[in-house]
Amino acid sequence: MRRSALDRARQSDGRVDLKCLDRPGIAAFMADLGKAEHRALQVYKWAWQRDTTDFATIDTIPRSVRATLGERAVLSSLEPDGRLDSADGTRKYLWRLPDGHRIESVLIPDDTVPGRPRLTLCVSTQVGCAMKCSFCLTGDMGLKRHLSPAEIANQPLQVQQDLGPEHRITNLVMMGMGEPLHNYDNLLVALDILLDTYGQNFSHRRITVSTVGLVDALERFAQASPVNLAISLNATTEASRTQVMPITRRHSLAALMEACRRLPLPSGKRITFEYVMMEGFNTSDEDLVRLRQLMADVPAKVNLIPYNENPHRDIRRPSDDRVEAWQQALVTAGIHCSVRTTRGRDISAACGQLGDASPV
Ligand code: SF4
Repeated sequence: MRRSALDRARQSDGRVDLKCLDRPGIAAFMADLGKAEHRALQVYKWAWQRDTTDFATIDTIPRSVRATLGERAVLSSLEPDGRLDSADGTRKYLWRLPDGHRIESVLIPDDTVPGRPRLTLCVSTQVGCAMKCSFCLTGDMGLKRHLSPAEIANQPLQVQQDLGPEHRITNLVMMGMGEPLHNYDNLLVALDILLDTYGQNFSHRRITVSTVGLVDALERFAQASPVNLAISLNATTEASRTQVMPITRRHSLAALMEACRRLPLPSGKRITFEYVMMEGFNTSDEDLVRLRQLMADVPAKVNLIPYNENPHRDIRRPSDDRVEAWQQALVTAGIHCSVRTTRGRDISAACGQLGDASPV
């Protein structure tokens, strides 16, 4: 297992990207070089807490060790490829990867709760996506490739660098480009780095992984990671969900909900079910009844997401009255329900718009 992680971290020039390894992984790499284990922690802390990409600057380790590391390893970073600022404060970061692909991260400020300002970063986990959800522009790209652990974990690191010390990212959501659980191994390493006290030191309460519901991976993931889970639901019957989320053919709605009932959630923790509301498709009174039934015996929160209309899809968002009526009905039924405000539409940073990276 450790060997394969090391192999995955190896670049085309043979050097190992230490930012693709968790702490034990770096310790194993240092041991292979015959270096003392405590050097691993020093390198790890410099990489993730002091943002270094140059071994020569790590002045707490001997010059000879630094020289060896420079020959055998790298500490990668993302190449910035532009930044778009929305009128509503949302900000999209574009990154160019070494193979020429581009990915995006979206920073969303939220001051709606007095005294508790939030700064949420929406992180990408793949270039494109294989899931092909019909309402999502990222799905149109198909899957180009998985992101490495470094490419995932460098997004919050480098956005934080851009923000400076006055503003801290408070929350991370793995809801950018890609299906996180399709990139399972790399996601787990990246989360390890994000959660580690000596890494980026985020609380597990502040990180959410969103998935279409790859049932086997979901069950493994709930055992392996303490972070919050969100399921992209978007329909209330097998037929309608299959229509917009082809993955339902492989992982049925029934199997997904059964898995959600079985997940070993810590007490008080709930699964967030995201429901993109598309007028004339999934917003009928019958849908509402079925949604309530689906949520009945699951520790659930519902996040209603009125569709972000765009020129690429003939899909309408429901009226504000309809959205509000749904929210009230769900709350009355005892289901915690929030409505996601559309953010960043003018920079194509809203939900389902990532992948269309051209400035407007
Ligand atoms: S909604 Fe998420 S899982 Fe579906 S195609 Fe888009 S990025 Fe992939």
